[in-house]
Order: sequence, then C-alpha cells, then structure tokens
Amino acid sequence: MKCDNPVMNQILNAYKPIWSLKHAISLMGWDFETYMPRGGIEERGVADSQLHILHKDLLLSKDFIGLVESAKKLESLGDFEKGIVRVLDREISKEIRIPQELTEAESLARIRGNMIWREARTKSDFKMFEPYLKNMIEIKKQIAEKRGYEKHPYDALLDTFEEQLTVNDLDKVFGTLTPRVQKILKTLVDSNSPFCKENKLGKSKYDAKKVDQLNHDILTLLQYDMKRFRMDESTHPFTETMGLNDIRITTRYEGTDFKKSIFSTIHEAGHALYNLQCDQSLSFTPIEGGSSLGLHESQSRYWENIVCRGLPFVQLIAPLIREQVDFTNQTTDEELYLYFNNVKADYIRVDADEVTYNLHIAIRYEIEKKIFGDDLRVNEIPEFWNERMEQLLGVRPTKDSEGVLQDTHWSSGLFGYFPTYTLGNLISAIIASKMRKDLDNYEEDIKNGNFDTIREWLRLKIHRYGSAYAPKVLLNNSLNEGYNPDYFVTYLETKYLGS
Ligand code: MG
Repeated sequence: MKCDNPVMNQILNAYKPIWSLKHAISLMGWDFETYMPRGGIEERGVADSQLHILHKDLLLSKDFIGLVESAKKLESLGDFEKGIVRVLDREISKEIRIPQELTEAESLARIRGNMIWREARTKSDFKMFEPYLKNMIEIKKQIAEKRGYEKHPYDALLDTFEEQLTVNDLDKVFGTLTPRVQKILKTLVDSNSPFCKENKLGKSKYDAKKVDQLNHDILTLLQYDMKRFRMDESTHPFTETMGLNDIRITTRYEGTDFKKSIFSTIHEAGHALYNLQCDQSLSFTPIEGGSSLGLHESQSRYWENIVCRGLPFVQLIAPLIREQVDFTNQTTDEELYLYFNNVKADYIRVDADEVTYNLHIAIRYEIEKKIFGDDLRVNEIPEFWNERMEQLLGVRPTKDSEGVLQDTHWSSGLFGYFPTYTLGNLISAIIASKMRKDLDNYEEDIKNGNFDTIREWLRLKIHRYGSAYAPKVLLNNSLNEGYNPDYFVTYLETKYLGS
C-alpha cells in the first residue's frame, strides 16, 4: 500500500518486520498442529516465545510508538489509513498498559492451567482444576483493571475479542435470544418434529480418503483457488493466515458421522474466504485480517449453516455424497437434509446444532459476567452450570467432563471469547436476509452451484475492507444493523417451524 502521507508510509515500512514475525509465528503455529514431529515441542516452544518477545519489542519501540502517535494527530486520512492507525493504537495500548510481571504470570497460568485442565477433564474432576482456574481469574481481574472500562470489568475483556462490545450489548442480545430459542426448541420437541428424530447416517463408518475427496470436491464447487489456499488435517480444525495469498485450513476425519467433517471443512473455508477476498492493497498492513472475531465467525457460520445446511445446497452436493460415502447410495435428499439439521438438546457445545448452540453460549456468558462482577465464586460454577443447563436445555450433566470442564477456553484465560460465537450466528442471519433482498436468484443459484454473486456480495459488503472498520461501524455501514437477534430467530422459525 502506498499512502499520500509520509508518516503513514514510514509506519508501513516500520511495520514490515512486525508483519514478517507474525507471518513466521502463523506458519509455525500451522506446522505445530499439522506435520511437526512431537519431539520438536520444546524447541518450538522456545522459538515461538522468542519471536513473540521480538514482536512486542518492535511494536513498543519508541520510534514506532512515536510514529503512531503523530499519525493520530493527522487530519484528512483515508479510511484505510485511519483503520491502520486505529488497529495499531489498540495493539500498542493493549500491550503497554499491562506490566511485564502480569503478562508473565498470565502466560505461566495459561500453560499450567491448560495442562491441569486436560487431566481434570479426563478424570472429570473440577476440584483438581479449581485452584488453577481461580488463579487465572484473579490475573484476568487485574488485567481488566489495567485495561480499563466504563461500566463493567468484564467489558475490558470483551473488548479484546470484539472491539467495543459490552455487557450492555450482550444483555440485550441474550435477553431477547434465549427465551425465543427456548420456545422454538420446546415446540420442536413437543411436536416430535422430524428434525429431532435420531438419524442412523451418523452411526456408520466412512472411508476417510473418500470423504477427503468429497471435501475437496465441495471446495472446488465453492470455487476455492488452490494456488492461494490449502487444506490439511488436524484434531481441532482451524484456519491460519500467513498473508492474503497463503491461507490454510484444516479439517477432521473421525471415522463416523461424516457431516462433521464436511461442516468443519466448510466452516473453516468460510473463515478463509474473508481473507482471500480482502483488498490486495491491504497486504502487509495491520488491517489485512477480518474486522473482529464476531464478523469472522459470521462468515464461517454463513457458509456452514445457512448455505450448506440449507436444502438447495444439500440437493446440489447429494450426488457427490452418494458417490463417496457408500452407505448413503440409497439415501434421499430429504434424509440427508434431516441428518445435516438434526436438533438435539445435549451437553456438549461443539457438537450442538444451530437451534441449541446459542443456549450453550448464554450459560457461559452468564457465568463469565457473574465471575467478573464478583457475583459468583469459583467453587459455585459447576452447580450453577448444571442448574442452568437443566433450565435452558432440559438436560443436567452428571459429570464435570460433560459440563463445566468441556471447553479449553477458561484454562487458557480466554474470558470474553464465547459471546463472539453467538454474534457470528446473529450476523450470519442478518447477512442472509439482506442478501436475499439484493440477489434475484439466490436459492436457484445455490442449487445450481453458482456462487459468484454471493461471493461478490460478501466481498463488496464485508471482505474487501479487512479490519479497516471496527465491527460496529462495519455492521452499520454495510448492513445498516447492529447485533440484532431478530433475524436469527426468524431464520430458525422459518427453517425449523415453517412459520
Ligand atoms: Mg470459527
């Protein structure tokens, strides 16, 4: 990117080595999860932490901070330039407000906490994890104080994952969303809906090589450019971006329940598309990524849930499925559709369907808010969790491993992260609703495998801007909306209740 302003050009030049370190860290992260031999763990740990230290040193160097400070005073900057200054200023102030001892304490708590959590989950023993969780929460409370907030300490943590997100926003979101979703779930269960019937397609063993071929066939259908993109395998699927022309996803092959592999692929590919369609002029700048975690998740959820779990797409890929998954060769489109959209109130968030998913998030949000509002003690969390599961989903975990210990987030100090999953779901429904109005042959195009207009719509409204705009600004500019749950509830009602 070439700017009119010399200060901005100096910033971008000085940013090149910072960008390069991020590039290396991303590549090492991808390699760690995919092909690195296990013996390399310790060496990789050293290399990774040293590169992070270098990254921080460059970001917080006097010269660099000086450049960003003088850019903040500049008038008549373009939107991309303003975005660069905003993002760098946020990164710098996040780092600078936290004293070194606190950063080190957090990093240590994360490593220990995560290790103990793994063991505690295997043994289903919350008591074992409790002191480590307590320690992490204390550190996070200190970090929230250092970062600063206007109303609620939890706001400081939310803002690190979703710029300007507050308890006030989320109370409104869940206050509307939770009771309406509960009602939809109850109607489905009470009416013995076909969506709730157990489906045998999830039980049979599949051939991983063939499902891998199927995933690649689907990516081809969705027009992924394999010169700038690739897919590998890992236990937990993820997307890693080295730069705008090297974006990598992973998927999983567990042997049964083949929809999980297909939807992991499509979910991550949705994340990848956000970066693949970012304006190329933003390459090597701090705004080449997406606007926020919520916006990013809206892209993965839009493709995974709204497009690919929809009937037109199921009809499109059904012949490919029958070709690669032997036991489906007699299955009808309708049966595949019901298998893809099976609804079940259950314990585990990552396996949840799109109706129940946000109820899992609602519980985690309530708990996090209470913890940081000093409204819930650590030893009270399991009981509160189980109680709320029973109230919202009608199932009560009988052991901690299927309750409070199921997610890795808290052990790694990721408080404030969960709500972005729900925001992603809400935004995906807003996008779909606006798109239907703008695009004439929306469903026909999906059924015929023509994704040009959808991709272009997403590129123009969202992808091309990278993180030039804060999420609330982008939502307002491009979709004329906020975190409004109405679209998502209407989407569920239409799809599942036919109303
Ligand atoms: Mg995701």
